[in-house]
Amino acid sequence: MERIVVKFGGSSVADAEQIRKVKAIVEADHRRRIVVVSAPGKRHAGESKLTDLLYLCHEMVAMDTDPTEPFQLIRNRFTEISRELGIENGVLTELEEFQEDLLRGCSRDYTVSRGEYFSARLIADYLGAEFVDPANAIIVRANTTIARESYRLLGERLNDQEQIYVIPGFYGRDRDGEVKTFSRGGSDITGAIAARAAGAVLYENWTDTSGILMADPRIIDNPQPITEITFREIREMAYMGASVFHDEAILPVREAGIPIRIRNTNRPEDPGTMIVPKLSESELKSTEVAGIAGKKGFSMICLEKSLMNRETGFVYRLLGILNEHGVSFEQFPASIDSVSVIVEEQQLRGLDDVLLEQIHRQLEPDSLYIEKNLALVAVVGEGMVRTVGIAGKVFSALGSAGINIRVINQGASEMNIIIGVAESEYEATVTTLYDAFVGNRAR
Ligand code: ASP
Repeated sequence: MERIVVKFGGSSVADAEQIRKVKAIVEADHRRRIVVVSAPGKRHAGESKLTDLLYLCHEMVAMDTDPTEPFQLIRNRFTEISRELGIENGVLTELEEFQEDLLRGCSRDYTVSRGEYFSARLIADYLGAEFVDPANAIIVRANTTIARESYRLLGERLNDQEQIYVIPGFYGRDRDGEVKTFSRGGSDITGAIAARAAGAVLYENWTDTSGILMADPRIIDNPQPITEITFREIREMAYMGASVFHDEAILPVREAGIPIRIRNTNRPEDPGTMIVPKLSESELKSTEVAGIAGKKGFSMICLEKSLMNRETGFVYRLLGILNEHGVSFEQFPASIDSVSVIVEEQQLRGLDDVLLEQIHRQLEPDSLYIEKNLALVAVVGEGMVRTVGIAGKVFSALGSAGINIRVINQGASEMNIIIGVAESEYEATVTTLYDAFVGNRAR
């Protein structure tokens, strides 16, 4: 049978009303057999996510202060959910036991994993489904990657095709059997592991937005949602600051060729965004770009030296100096007699003078300086770089808007054109490019 893994984020399981929507969604498609859930998120601005309260409880115990107050908030949330859904399954007694563990000083990972654990216990009961504890099936290596055997172990655990299973997100166990959490937002990763382990045909990720947007809604008013985007494009968008879903969650499904669909629990009729290995023909024809993303906070080390191109090992020595100081770089635009290295401002950590002095001494450039306060903006799209006229469109749009382009870089991946501008022109750059490439066209 074809199965779909459905993962519901914190806002989708924030209270009983949201969990009723989860049930309706699961029941609307017989293939939705594997359900992964987050811990309850915020019900309104100003409230804390349950996971944050758990982090707080652990910290208070570690500092020898009494965590009763935040713990009470946690207990209230679960009590309210079970009462409103009419569930009597011993979770509240287990919560008492957990409070004792907490006071005895259980580990931080174990503490914060309980948000997902109790959430899944309640939802499994409400759906009449089987609860699966990932601590028995997902193995996290010391370097935080997922051990391959997890796919087999979890796959075996999910082998009944007719059964509905509920799995808490966000954690597994380490080689010693201790609960190990993923990084924040990590329930997405659990969903991806489950999709691969179960050989699912689709991984649906239910959130509170109707898919991924073509640009940051804080800059563009009501940006178009993306209908279809490839794994490679999504990686570029996420890296350049677009808030999509957890980037570590892409790998397990991408390797197995399982598409992901981002959907809105509050508007299940919306199509959302499909993340696919390859764009469909119609999609390829209808669109030039996937989206526009960007980030502030970059610096550029700029060097010029006549006949630099004839000097062997010049670039190698330059990067060696950065490496020596543990500074990693983002972009590397170069021409015949000049190179620039773009680094995240936080990477420099006040090392500006040290680096400049060493580069001067070892490379003897004709000119050398660091330009601060840069923003990078990427126009992302498969095959875009091969399409005639795209770069021209970028230049002419920005030129007409009077925006000074400091850097332009075209990735070898043929998937993005990256523009560096002054931070003060960041918002104007995003708006200008969005108007030029998207306007009111949807992808
Ligand atoms: N509850 C965890 C967090 O807040 C994991 C998740 O929601 O995906 O980060």
